[in-house]
Amino acid sequence: MSRFNVLYLTSELYPMAKVGGLADVAGALPKVLKDLDHDIRVFIPKYRVIRDRKYNLREVIRLRDIEVPLGGETITISVKSGFVPDSKVQAYFLEYKPYFDRDDIYVDPATGKGFEDDAFRFALFSKAALEMLKVLYWQPDLVHVNDWPSAMLPYYLKTEYRDDPFFEKTRTLLTIHNLAYQGVFPPAVVTQVLSPDVKFDKSHPAWHHGDFNFLRAGIVTADLITSVSPTYAEQILTPDHGAGLDDVLSEKRDKVFGVLNGIDTDVWNPETDGELAANYSSEDLSGKQACREKLIREMKLDPPENLLVGVVARLVTQKGYDLFVQAAERLLALPVNFVILGAGEPEVEKAIRELAKQHPGRIVARIAFDNALAHRIEAGADAFLMPSRYEPCGLNQMYSLRYGTPPIVHGTGGLADTVSEFDPASGTGNGFRFDEFSVDELVAAVDRAVRVSADQQQWKRLMLNGMKQDFSWTASATKLVEVYEHARQMVEA
Ligand code: ADP
Repeated sequence: MSRFNVLYLTSELYPMAKVGGLADVAGALPKVLKDLDHDIRVFIPKYRVIRDRKYNLREVIRLRDIEVPLGGETITISVKSGFVPDSKVQAYFLEYKPYFDRDDIYVDPATGKGFEDDAFRFALFSKAALEMLKVLYWQPDLVHVNDWPSAMLPYYLKTEYRDDPFFEKTRTLLTIHNLAYQGVFPPAVVTQVLSPDVKFDKSHPAWHHGDFNFLRAGIVTADLITSVSPTYAEQILTPDHGAGLDDVLSEKRDKVFGVLNGIDTDVWNPETDGELAANYSSEDLSGKQACREKLIREMKLDPPENLLVGVVARLVTQKGYDLFVQAAERLLALPVNFVILGAGEPEVEKAIRELAKQHPGRIVARIAFDNALAHRIEAGADAFLMPSRYEPCGLNQMYSLRYGTPPIVHGTGGLADTVSEFDPASGTGNGFRFDEFSVDELVAAVDRAVRVSADQQQWKRLMLNGMKQDFSWTASATKLVEVYEHARQMVEA
């Protein structure tokens, strides 16, 4: 297998700056690629939460005061250097205080929405990456960008930097973690992010119904595209799941690949997890009982003999918790309790809060972002619920499988690729799956879980089926490198 030099752009990185699954992926995948001997380096904005001291970031004289041309202006940025924590993966941090030294990553605390100047912030991120590479004099084979915040980089490379011999052999790969987030801005941002001579009309890659769409620009101009599970990579080519971009994606269908996300098996390991009351493994499950008892006490769940179903999620429409709210009365007719950790859209938060108030002890909710509690729920719950409307990959179902907490899922996207229905007769399958997004089907799936749980031997079999699966990045990273090989072939062709 040949070796690749890769610059990996991400707007989130666990444990430094996490909002959702992208952070977990960015914190894990580069480490695995590095272990496979690729020279992969990460580039991320230096947000306020990424403290120099805590993460040992250093100034590099060469990377100070780099001039970045953007929208007819020149912005002077600096880049600091460090490592992805607990790894040998070099990371570069874009320092530009007016745009990144803020209390949040994406959400303006004043409005609860994205920052007004997001187009500019993230266009600068892409442009700064290219200018940094030139100063470093490091010519990657590939620039691997993720989601809309770095999707302008392939565009810049194909336009403003097209004749720059420095990038002659550099190809781009865009990974779509969630097609619903596209970075859509009013056309007025054109003057901030494009050079003054560029015309913004229907023929422009970012044009989408008159708006300026970062992700569209990336899709049209990237050499290769991946998404985070095989099923989702097919779904996004269809009008149902294409979020308005299925046409441009379909035009490039031979360049679109599905590579299932892996999980960080060091961070999510019940044998070593420091957040748990007790550790356990597939050989000795006794610690899981201690985790369960502690969670029940901590969250005041009652009655304790009920099947305890955990939820950890961003509480947004995508995740399908409105279906759970609709189904709640019927679900509570079954011997189940729910423990919910999540934060997100105010309406979904409110509905969950109200349910918890109406059913104390049966539905207990913590509306917050709490990493340690997420681990305790994965370990302490009996089963895990993910009724996502759509799910590009989903990580929590893989964490729960590893923690012996069988997932109950809507069979879409990555959930369909990782969860199979348990068959009591043959003892195969790792969870419970409903393929139609409806209250009836959700209730039926939870009911099947309750029935299987009544038989301890069956339930143990189910738990072990999941715990013995390998969801580490090792297999997926190899698939990804095969995609990288396509990029190399493009250069050679
Ligand atoms: P998404 O990226 O759509 O949010 P994923 O399942 O891919 O969904 O990843 C979500 C990640 O964020 C998981 O690591 C999950 O544990 C974590 N997470 C989500 N909400 C919370 C929360 N309220 N507290 C702690 N961790 C959370």
